[in-house]
Amino acid sequence: MNHAMPNPLMPNDPAHFRLWREVQDMRVRTTLGGIFYLIAWLLCWTFSSAPQQLLLPGSLFSLVFVILLVLRLRHRLPADPDINSLLRWRWQHWTLLLLNSMFWGLATGCCLLLTPLQDSQLIAALSTIAFSTAAIFNFPMQRLPAACAVMLIYLPALVIMLPQASKNAGVLTTLVFFMLYLMLALKRNHREYHAGVDVQHKLLEQHEQLELLSRTDSLTQLGNRLQFNNLFEQQVALAKRQGSPLTLLLLDIDHFKQINDQYGHMVGDHCLRQFAEQMRQTFRRDSDILLRLGGEEFGVLMPGVELEQARQLGELFRQRLDEHGLSVQGQPLRLTTSLGLGAFDRTRDTSADTLFRRVDEALYQAKHLGRNRLCEA
Ligand code: GH3
Ligand code: MG
Ligand code: MG
Repeated sequence: MNHAMPNPLMPNDPAHFRLWREVQDMRVRTTLGGIFYLIAWLLCWTFSSAPQQLLLPGSLFSLVFVILLVLRLRHRLPADPDINSLLRWRWQHWTLLLLNSMFWGLATGCCLLLTPLQDSQLIAALSTIAFSTAAIFNFPMQRLPAACAVMLIYLPALVIMLPQASKNAGVLTTLVFFMLYLMLALKRNHREYHAGVDVQHKLLEQHEQLELLSRTDSLTQLGNRLQFNNLFEQQVALAKRQGSPLTLLLLDIDHFKQINDQYGHMVGDHCLRQFAEQMRQTFRRDSDILLRLGGEEFGVLMPGVELEQARQLGELFRQRLDEHGLSVQGQPLRLTTSLGLGAFDRTRDTSADTLFRRVDEALYQAKHLGRNRLCEA
């Protein structure tokens, strides 16, 4: 679990996230395992008393382990992490893991049955313990298939030893106890794994909420200055690349200090909230980015909107406010705003900053000419 940064493909829904996380972890943890089955078998074969007599089983099992290794490594994650693709990937991968376990169980069985391989029984036994333990610790995501993997690893050896149970009593008892231990460990690992995934999901959610909060103005719920700084340059770069229109409207409430002085700061805050609400009602396109840039200064970034259309919207907003003002505690309150407007112009604007300065100057001009008006850059 090493995803500190939210991944754009990461699902939000908890159950979907859990599945996605499981699949990611299985993919990371599968890379080593396949190689060790192959190496363990090659060791059993090489250190048997007569490797050349074992050419057929030796090369057959080697081939199987190579094929499974390649299949495990080549089993790439689905490009589209929707639930069905993830579920399909998961059962396909469990099939590969279980086949690997089964063939190791059979290989161990051969070490018990074939006389030349009996010299390698200790190698096989140590590997069997290692593989079953690794299965429990690396793949605790689902209990049933993980338990099956352990069973498949041990089953052939148990079946072979059982007919001579009295002779193998010590080894058999140890094996049964060890399997019992593994099942208990699996239960705990399974629980801890999913608790970890849940915590991670909560953390990521909180991270996202904090991110959103840090980009939102708490008084008006519009985007704040940080949001503007993040988006403005992006939008200008996009307009430059795609040649699409981009307009910026800056609004500054007229004589707002007087409102505070006359009615108090609480009423002032109320006005700012209502002003923002009226902005929402006028600039309604999904792509419009509404911002409180500071104090009683606001902005609207309109990607895809031509200058003339933006001018009409800005003028509509100014007129409505001029005519109806705001309503504070049931009382009408007269309020006007000055506006500066400009569109990105590739011949004039070398950067986002030049566009902003042009629009800011237009706003200053609107103030200078007597307020309650819109000036174009
Ligand atoms: P102008 O027409 O030249 O813009 O005059 P103005 O009074 O609006 O401009 P000025 O910059 O002199 O004053 C802005 C005022 O906005 C001062 C400050 O008290 C008020 N203000 C800024 N932020 C807030 C806020 O969050 N809440 C309230 N209530 N008032 C605020
Ligand atoms: Mg101001
Ligand atoms: Mg002002």
